[in-house]
Amino acid sequence: MHPPSVDVLARELAKSFTLPHAVLVHCAREAVRDAPQDAQGAAYDNALYFSQSLLTTVVNGTGVLLHTNLGRAPLAMTDSHRPTNLEFNLANGERGSRHTAVSELLGQLLNVEDAIVVNNNAAAVMLVLAALAEGRDVAVSRGESVEIGGGFRIPDVMEQSGARLVDVGTTNRTRLRDYERAIDSRKNDIALLLKVHPSNFSIEGFTEQTSISELATLEVPVVADIGSGLLDNTAPWLQGYLDNVPSWIAQEPAARQAIADGADVITFSGDKLLGGPQCGVIAGRADLVAQCAAHPLMRALRPGGHTLLALQNVLLSYSARTVCTQIPFWSMATTPVQELATRAERIIAATGVGTSVALDSLIGAGSAPGSTIESHGISLAGDQRAKLRHHATPVIARTVANTTHIDLRSVHPDDDSIIIDAVNSLK
Ligand SMILES: *Cc1c(COP(=O)(O)O)cnc(C)c1O
Repeated sequence: MHPPSVDVLARELAKSFTLPHAVLVHCAREAVRDAPQDAQGAAYDNALYFSQSLLTTVVNGTGVLLHTNLGRAPLAMTDSHRPTNLEFNLANGERGSRHTAVSELLGQLLNVEDAIVVNNNAAAVMLVLAALAEGRDVAVSRGESVEIGGGFRIPDVMEQSGARLVDVGTTNRTRLRDYERAIDSRKNDIALLLKVHPSNFSIEGFTEQTSISELATLEVPVVADIGSGLLDNTAPWLQGYLDNVPSWIAQEPAARQAIADGADVITFSGDKLLGGPQCGVIAGRADLVAQCAAHPLMRALRPGGHTLLALQNVLLSYSARTVCTQIPFWSMATTPVQELATRAERIIAATGVGTSVALDSLIGAGSAPGSTIESHGISLAGDQRAKLRHHATPVIARTVANTTHIDLRSVHPDDDSIIIDAVNSLK
């Protein structure tokens, strides 16, 4: 028997998939080549695999607010057909800088002289090291020579940047004296003191770290990679939403305090606790930031207009103190648990399935490891993850002991209707 023709197969696939004809032909052709005995089944599998590999929006029911696999901080998309004045100065009609607006806003919010933005914090650290310490030495505490995840390891980043790592202190204790000794040693040519926030783990017991304010007493510029991008650990934007600043915020290193303590340059991610788009911020002393901006790597690392526009809008929300209503991460983090319980009851009433359950949400993205926020959701018998994931708008859930949990803290209230549809489709 001859395998069916590629064209017949592709037209058959078109009944189940709304994919471009050329894509269906590709799926059919590979099926005929690889599985001529069951080309129809293989073509269907190919098209299904392709559909499920496309980027799409999903409902995050995991309760991990900054879910690394779901792109960390969720953001509302601005999809205008119009271009932006990315490098066009509207005041005088001349060429402008893409960094002007965010630099001005960060200047006001953090009390820094200047700031630039790159594609992520890994790029920010790499650029700072390359621009300020290439061919020279950078002192890092042995307790901070860390791996953040996804291949970001301080010794490797250091090597790629062309700077040399000088380990100081020990894994559990590093004192100011250790940095002083590294600077004074004739073997070394220390260009920077790099302080790295070990975001995703903590060591306890007989430990000692050297603070930014202590390091700032030395002659060498201090660079602090604070990681999460918490702007201010007094979190003034929570006033009127939470009675107290939760400990997971108070304990995080924050940008404003790092600068006030004397860091010359700080770097942080845009899509962690800041709640913005994926990007990395380099902020601090104008001369040092200018050196980073002028480095050839800057051109390779610069973000596009949509990223900068999204970041600008997030920073404007901080200035306007509308963080808890306008930035999805902060809105999720501060929703009263009672509201979540009410939403759970409504979903259960609408579907007639599931039970209301108290849950603990996680911050995620390696930020505030171990900290949880009291939450509420629905639980369903059995492992329903695959069916929920294959819903028209995928719903991502968690399973504990053969029970499926959908945590409503990480779900936008407008998406409860999607959860109702998805749960109904399980029946
Ligand atoms: C998350 C993190 C990074 C990496 O940031 P990306 O934005 O993911 O590139 C680097 N350093 C620290 C301390 C972090 O917490």
